[in-house]
Amino acid sequence: PGAVDSEALATLHRVFGFDAFRGEQQAIVEHVVAGGDAVVLMPTGAGKSLCYQIPALVRPGTGVVVSPLIALMQDQVDALRALGVRAGFMNSTQDFDERRMVEAEFLAGELDLLYLAPERLRLDATLDLLSRGKISVFAIDEAHCVSQWGHDFRPDYLSLSLLGERWPDVPRIALTATATRATHEEITQRLNLPTARHFVASFDRPNIQYRIVPKADPKKQLLAFLREEHPGDAGIVYCLSRNSVERTAEFLTANGIQAVPYHAGLDASVRAAHQSRFLREDGLVVVATIAFGMGIDKPDVRFVAHLDLPKSIEGYYQETGRAGRDGLPSTAWMAYGLNDVIQQRKLIQSGEGDEAFRRRAAAHLDAMLALCETARCRRGQLLAYFGQDAAAEACGNCDTCLTPPETWDGTVAAQKVLST
Ligand code: ADP
Ligand code: MG
Repeated sequence: PGAVDSEALATLHRVFGFDAFRGEQQAIVEHVVAGGDAVVLMPTGAGKSLCYQIPALVRPGTGVVVSPLIALMQDQVDALRALGVRAGFMNSTQDFDERRMVEAEFLAGELDLLYLAPERLRLDATLDLLSRGKISVFAIDEAHCVSQWGHDFRPDYLSLSLLGERWPDVPRIALTATATRATHEEITQRLNLPTARHFVASFDRPNIQYRIVPKADPKKQLLAFLREEHPGDAGIVYCLSRNSVERTAEFLTANGIQAVPYHAGLDASVRAAHQSRFLREDGLVVVATIAFGMGIDKPDVRFVAHLDLPKSIEGYYQETGRAGRDGLPSTAWMAYGLNDVIQQRKLIQSGEGDEAFRRRAAAHLDAMLALCETARCRRGQLLAYFGQDAAAEACGNCDTCLTPPETWDGTVAAQKVLST
């Protein structure tokens, strides 16, 4: 181990108070500290932040972090400052004076980390400012936002490709928890990272039990599931529409389960209040559309429930991945009915986008459908989708492993047909 490694490790101990790197963190940190570009695919909760925070502390200059999560920037910066890291952020929630102060700190070389909303980087004023200071590393967090096929697409991410041209000597690290090959390639291309080293962690989340039940009366099924298995636990319930979010939250509350709604139609202040209650209180249930959850770091989410079918396995994996970040047993529970599939097919056909877009959306839905209908291990199928073929044997924890569905045995049927 060279000087670089020991300095990284010393920073991990001294600043963050952790004993050891996890998984690929050390290899990533060493690569970036040495000036290399990196594309990092790691599941939610695996610890992507340290992969750029430590290089930013070890290399001279300020680490510039691009993140779409404006609502979380203040919290992230406060948490870093509490550890003694000189961090600041610039986004639309600040007034002129606050921004000026951060700019001055950056120019004086007094910042270790500067968090920026992606739309800032389109502004000449921001690029100018960055040119006048010293940058140690560019981190592009939630890098899947550059993908036009995902539901998190942010057009501003496309302009990030110019960072490499303007700052050829500054290493760039793109990070995401979205693992499909297509997204991976899009990130590499669109962010212009042809020589980046790729770090792909295992996407297995063995402490999450995957279960998919036939949908009958989903609110009642959910209530029974929560009462029997997760009384008093914190969790997230995902619904497709704002309307069903509201009704489900009311239904749970009326039945003695503390629940709050979250969707894009609510006031920003209400959303912020519900999010912060979820983070701070024990045992609160958030009923939400997929607008909720990206970047949320709450370790003890004990269940994620889906009352409607997600549009893709990527979405399902991301959403269920918010459960059990502390490694303790957690449940990913979903009520699934064929009507959901029919409804979503219609939406795709009548919806936005050109033919190629529709075909891709339909393929995503089909993969989701296959996961719901499978008779084999759900975890195995999920990992296989991400190109990470699990061990041949079943996981022994998902619903299909614990109670194998009564499958129609094609072999026996075929033999009967042939023998008559
Ligand atoms: P991600 O961005 O991959 O979802 P985060 O960077 O938010 O994950 O980290 C998730 C949690 O794991 C944080 O609470 C973080 O402090 C913790 N963590 C990360 N790396 C380590 C480590 N090496 N040792 C102990 N805890 C860690
Ligand atoms: Mg993160």
